[in-house]
Amino acid sequence: MTKISALLEAGWCFSIELWPPKNLESENKLRTALSELEALEPDFVSITYGAAGSTRERTHELVVDLLNNSPMTPMAHLSCMEHSKKELSIILERYKKAGVENILALRGDPPLNATVQLSQGELVYASELVELAKQVGNFCVAVAAHPEGHPLSLDLTQDRYRLSQKLDKADFAITQFFFNPQYYFDLVDSLRVLGVDKPVIPGIMPIVNLRTVFKMSELSGTSVPKEILARLQAVGANPDDLRRVGVEIAVDLCEQLLQAGVPGLHFYTMNSFVSTKEIYEALGLGARRSKS
Ligand code: FAD
Repeated sequence: MTKISALLEAGWCFSIELWPPKNLESENKLRTALSELEALEPDFVSITYGAAGSTRERTHELVVDLLNNSPMTPMAHLSCMEHSKKELSIILERYKKAGVENILALRGDPPLNATVQLSQGELVYASELVELAKQVGNFCVAVAAHPEGHPLSLDLTQDRYRLSQKLDKADFAITQFFFNPQYYFDLVDSLRVLGVDKPVIPGIMPIVNLRTVFKMSELSGTSVPKEILARLQAVGANPDDLRRVGVEIAVDLCEQLLQAGVPGLHFYTMNSFVSTKEIYEALGLGARRSKS
């Protein structure tokens, strides 16, 4: 088992995000994605935590399964929402006992279809979970960064300041997805000005269809630049054409990020391997990684 902070110190990281399956059909899709993506030898694999703890057991099971039965280094997402501090400590203790060393500490969001008002949890901000994880298990702890600012934050300067304080206590950050690389560069510059130079890995979301991209962008506060929208609209409704253009857009973005010397690339795979694999191949990441 390996701490991701050690991997980042040693060099550049290629990583993927997956979510735990909720039924047999999604289990099969996940297993196919895993076997295809494992062949690309990701440096680590992060496993999401369902809104308000809804995948508590399934996230644990998948992380521990990957740890024990695959060559990949897993990282467990964990969020404060709807949990007491004691519950979070128990979850962290369980990961520690299982040998898991990497945690992505998040505040979390309420589920999209929540019909009742949910409590925010005993810990209000992700930075408090970073502290708890360090106390419980000396984990390598990652945090979320929002290049365009957190969607609920009214003030970007405050948001950057809060992020700098959170990242100062953590080991590295992974960003929300974005399409304009300038947002990422500005984020990293602001953190440097605030005295924080921990690795910030850009999160890449390959576009597979327009409806999903609009929904995800609205939820995350990510803007879709006009020229990207025009490229997508120009291909019409054919899913294969849309996916192909989505891959081209991601390849252009990744090239600009790689040229700027980013510490890694993290792919939001949505449990599908096709686009991530095509982007990996188009960028020649296999050859680039073996040289570095
Ligand atoms: P925080 O860092 O707590 O920030 C939330 C807001 O509070 C920001 O506006 C910040 O500026 C503000 N803030 C922070 N500290 C303070 C303070 N001390 N005082 C006042 N204001 C403060 N969600 C899930 O439910 N499950 C997942 O698996 C998941 N994975 C994710 C992975 C990545 C890489 C990313 C980028 C996001 C992920 N999310 C996930 C979404 C995330 O939970 C939401 O974006 C959430 O709204 C914010 O989480 P955070 O950890 O950034 O929150």
